[in-house]
Amino acid sequence: MKRRDFLDQSSMGFAGLLVAPNLTAVFPKKEIIKSLATSTPYVLSTWNVPQATLLAGEALEKGSQGLDAAVHGVAFEEANLLNTTVGKGGAPDRDGNVSLDACVMNHKGDCGAVLAVENITHVAALAKDVMEKTPHVIIAGAGARKFALEQGYKAENLLTESSKAAWKKWLEKGNYKPEINVENHDTIGMLCSDVYGNLSGVCTTSGLAYKMMGRVGDSPIIGSGLYIDNEVGGAVATGLGEEVIKTVGSFLIVELMRQGKTPQDACEEAIERIIEKQKGKPDFQVAYLATNKKGEIGAYSVHRGFSYTKYFNKKTTNTQSNSVY
Ligand code: ASP
Repeated sequence: MKRRDFLDQSSMGFAGLLVAPNLTAVFPKKEIIKSLATSTPYVLSTWNVPQATLLAGEALEKGSQGLDAAVHGVAFEEANLLNTTVGKGGAPDRDGNVSLDACVMNHKGDCGAVLAVENITHVAALAKDVMEKTPHVIIAGAGARKFALEQGYKAENLLTESSKAAWKKWLEKGNYKPEINVENHDTIGMLCSDVYGNLSGVCTTSGLAYKMMGRVGDSPIIGSGLYIDNEVGGAVATGLGEEVIKTVGSFLIVELMRQGKTPQDACEEAIERIIEKQKGKPDFQVAYLATNKKGEIGAYSVHRGFSYTKYFNKKTTNTQSNSVY
């Protein structure tokens, strides 16, 4: 079944705004990598995104592989018009174009990414299609849009009236300074551990509001916004992408865990690497979320205000991370 076959979520009370890929269509159970189907699945998402996290968790309980569940979960927020930092309804660049970035990585170390894509809502699914259906890892801009249309994705206007109004207001002064939202609903990085004990992840974003046209942050860059090593663990990032890229943050965290650090210590060291390059207190936010194969969790941010959502044992909970400041 093609990606255009979306499940209408309106019966769940979301006023028909939200669509997500059809569960039965996108969750092949064919491949069990580890024969032990005994692991308790869990999901970790950056920020307070209970519905997306729950959808992913429920998919895992049904036997979905981690990456399928993560793509399904984040699709909820990609379609959520009220979320101005991910998918449709995302804030535009300074020229008024909404351009989205996403990447995916699975337990086998396969990965895919799309950069600066316009008119396509479900960019995490598109990144997975790049991984599965092309010989490439990254497709950018007009090429990514063309590939999406060939795969049956619908071209949509992603700029909502309210995002347009906010952009017009911003244009009155037009001062460009990246502003990082430290509340709910920023870039979504999601890590899923499935019933087969395998770890996968997704990162999806509309990037910084009013960024320069063509600017791409850390979120779709494998190793920066997301990294998975199924032998060790996984990590995701949110916040000022330029700082995450400079320190290859998610890869750094996974490598620190490989050397024996807990996810918490690894996240703290990765934030420290950023802080130590600054003169004084940074005026930007960066936050990391990580897990290892023992199911331990770590989260840490530059400033207060970062939280993560966890699905475990059929429940979602939101937890504030510790921070430097
Ligand atoms: N990391 C994203 C970017 O730099 C933005 C964010 O997470 O707030 O594009």
